[in-house]
Amino acid sequence: MTATHGVEILLVEDAKFFRSVIKSQIENQLGFRVTCAESYQEACAILDERSEDFFLALLDLNLPDAPKGEIVDYVIEKSVPSIVFSGQFNEELRDHLMQQNIIDYVVKDSPASIEYVITTVKRLYNNQSVKVLLADDSKTARYQMHGLLSRYKFQILEAEDGLQALKTLDENPDIMLVITDYNMPNLDGFELTKKIRTHYSKRELCIIGVSTYGNHALSAKFIKVGANDFITKPFLNEEFFCRISQNVEMLEHIKALEDSLITDYLTGLRNRRYLFQRGEAILEEVRNEGGYLVAAMCDIDHFKNINDTYGHDGGDEALKQVANQLRHDFGNKGVVSRFGGEEFCILMQCDTLDDVRSQFEDLRESIDGLKISYGNREIKVRISLGVSWQKTPALDDLINLADAKLYEAKNTGRNKVVFDD
Ligand code: GH3
Ligand code: MG
Ligand code: MG
Repeated sequence: MTATHGVEILLVEDAKFFRSVIKSQIENQLGFRVTCAESYQEACAILDERSEDFFLALLDLNLPDAPKGEIVDYVIEKSVPSIVFSGQFNEELRDHLMQQNIIDYVVKDSPASIEYVITTVKRLYNNQSVKVLLADDSKTARYQMHGLLSRYKFQILEAEDGLQALKTLDENPDIMLVITDYNMPNLDGFELTKKIRTHYSKRELCIIGVSTYGNHALSAKFIKVGANDFITKPFLNEEFFCRISQNVEMLEHIKALEDSLITDYLTGLRNRRYLFQRGEAILEEVRNEGGYLVAAMCDIDHFKNINDTYGHDGGDEALKQVANQLRHDFGNKGVVSRFGGEEFCILMQCDTLDDVRSQFEDLRESIDGLKISYGNREIKVRISLGVSWQKTPALDDLINLADAKLYEAKNTGRNKVVFDD
């Protein structure tokens, strides 16, 4: 999980069951701290003392000592963003709340509403690392959308026309979402969308076109030139938020899926698929820029004995700890991957071979020194390594060479490094 330890949420709710369920789910699933207040009075006292500590407030609209939603005004006055829940909402109340700068409202009528609260809190937290580019020539339109986006905690960049948008995108390749107007000088929304799509696919970057009501063909055209979605002006704030969240979430799901394809589930290290993908790219860099491509195959010694002695779970724990040490020692230097079973492969580019030997000797030693605690026992692990460097232009050959050296290490005593000289 990301570093969420410092995040604190204020939960104001008099119903004990709802309060404890929300609190425990936020704490367990998201790792945030939840401070509870059971009444309006208690909430006000906390806010008076330290309103700036709260990332967000979750508010019950009907409290015994404030039955008309007074808590919402108080929290807004303290500039704490809030999500409001209530047993029921009518249209009038809903409109009133959404105009009051609250983030969202939730009807407390089913277990699904609890899940919705948790998802929304998480969404808001994640939005802080999502960069959005707003392209619109109208200052008023930008101002309005900027206000909404910042309420939802996004990072926001602005552009006055299509050309400026392209330049901003160029300078900020980590932009995740572009919201673009159609009618802009220099480069309009369609042309901007087309140009962006020559570099970024729909699963890398989301584009949402904004078109004006009454011109229906525009929205369809936006999708046809490569936008993921469109919003028609004038829009409800709520719709704006829903569409944006949905698109950002889709992108995040794709990213998570792509990550899982190249990640080893047990250790969190990169897997073999990634090693070969990235390895080809590093090899290309070495060909162009010089230096050496170094490959190291590492294998845990007598790992079968560890499984036999401590059980499969003990073996898994040893694998995780060895992986952590490899990541710690080489994560910044190159690719560290789980090659299979209890075998790991490290690939890295080195300008010289001067300290390659000592780096891998140090790694062997640091694994030898690991104290892996498992229950009330301690597992000892050792590894053997085979190391090769670029003599051959093919990645396969280089890794096979390292593997042959590993085999040599295994046959000549284990717990050692054999280099390809
Ligand atoms: P050597 O020193 O020659 O490498 O001997 P070894 O026992 O380490 O090697 P061997 O290849 O004979 O056995 C490796 C064992 O690793 C066999 C397999 O059951 C176990 N293993 C493979 N993947 C996992 C895993 O994910 N978790 C656990 N706990 N064991 C695994
Ligand atoms: Mg082994
Ligand atoms: Mg093995």
